[in-house]
Amino acid sequence: MRWMLRKCTKCGRYTLRTDKCPVCGAPVKIPHPPRFSPEDKYLKYRYMLKKRAGILRRDP
Ligand SMILES: [Zn+2]
Repeated sequence: MRWMLRKCTKCGRYTLRTDKCPVCGAPVKIPHPPRFSPEDKYLKYRYMLKKRAGILRRDP
């Protein structure tokens, strides 16, 4: 399923329109922006490693 639905920023309705809400005319946005980039995964992994390393290194 492709992300064709947009969500109104004002009334929260879902619509197929990409420019504005058919109900109240407010701008619409993509409700769930795609966050499945390999770079993001890699950064998250690196962050976890960094965090663990930081915890292991720092002795309060
Ligand atoms: Zn609306």
